[in-house]
Amino acid sequence: MLDFSYRALPWNIVFGVGALARLPEELDKLKLSSALVLATPHQTADGTAVVELLGERAAGLYDKAVMHVPAETAADALKEAERLGADCTVSIGGGSTTGLGKALALKAGLPNVAIPTTYAGSEMTNVWGITEAGRKVTGRDERVVPNLVIYDPALTLTLPAGLAGPSGLNAMAQAVVNVASNALNPIVASMALDAIRALARSLPRIIEAPDDLAARSEALYGACLAGGALGTGVTGLHHRLCHTFGGTFNTPHAETHTILLPHSVAYNAEAAAEGTQRIAEALGVADAAQGLFELARRVGAPTALSAIGIREEDLDRAAAVATETPINNPAPVTHAQIRAMLQNAWQGLAPV
Ligand code: NAD
Repeated sequence: MLDFSYRALPWNIVFGVGALARLPEELDKLKLSSALVLATPHQTADGTAVVELLGERAAGLYDKAVMHVPAETAADALKEAERLGADCTVSIGGGSTTGLGKALALKAGLPNVAIPTTYAGSEMTNVWGITEAGRKVTGRDERVVPNLVIYDPALTLTLPAGLAGPSGLNAMAQAVVNVASNALNPIVASMALDAIRALARSLPRIIEAPDDLAARSEALYGACLAGGALGTGVTGLHHRLCHTFGGTFNTPHAETHTILLPHSVAYNAEAAAEGTQRIAEALGVADAAQGLFELARRVGAPTALSAIGIREEDLDRAAAVATETPINNPAPVTHAQIRAMLQNAWQGLAPV
């Protein structure tokens, strides 16, 4: 019998090839008139193009966004927003840039617009993260949900295959944990299953033909739904493990998700049997964990923790940190089982 509660987030989405051109009119609708454009140093050109598109609606460009939103970067960007009299931010980039816009929304109540160029899905969530003194603090707060998201698949054509695969599997993780969950929510799960189907279909196509705009569009749609599922759903063991490796060992975000996902799905396969079967069906495979492992290999993503800088002697500490506090997860979590799972993941073996 169904037994759930659901609270939507205030999403406002424009999706389509060429949708970026609609930014000025969409800002007008929101009565915003002076945007500080945010980007990483790598995407200065994208940021500059947005400033040019906005014309008099642009307050300036801040192109120093970096991974995991250091508190100093957020403070520096806020100072710049105040100096320029900005009334909102427009983030163009991946999760790092979206995260900076969210931090300014949290700290100063600045409305934020996100123009995602990866499949991180952060633009659809209420999750924020800020790193202070080497520690990343995260939380959920509706104020960080972007006032507008513009998805323009053409902007993702420059995302190299080596980044697109792990980025898409980062989105996949957000969806998967909300199907194989002990707090199954049918509305969240329906978004998540559609995300799994879209990502499973599109990611291999992107690797084979990086200019396939239809595949890029489907992957971005999958990321949108996956982020929506995470934003209105739950996290469990998988996100705890990724947070542990990212926070304690500074591993790259999307790759960490890619490597650990098949193993965390296998870990919960028995306890969340029905959801795991639905994931397999959405992936079009017999076994969800093996299917995700194969998909990672197919898209050329790393499949071993040893490939992203983790040493075998780090695994004890990782298992200890990950199991320090209770985890809301379908299968009970024990240090010994997590340690064994991490050994497999470190070696790049198939999930068991
Ligand atoms: P990223 O934003 O760090 O981007 C990686 C690199 O790729 C950057 O140099 C970026 O400029 C570049 N790039 C992005 N799009 C590009 C494109 N189309 N073409 C060429 N280069 C491009 O990486 P990410 O994986 O998108 O985001 C990771 C961060 O997002 C982490 O800090 C993670 O914690 C956060 N995140 C947060 C949430 C959330 O809900 N709050 C969800 C997912 C990820």
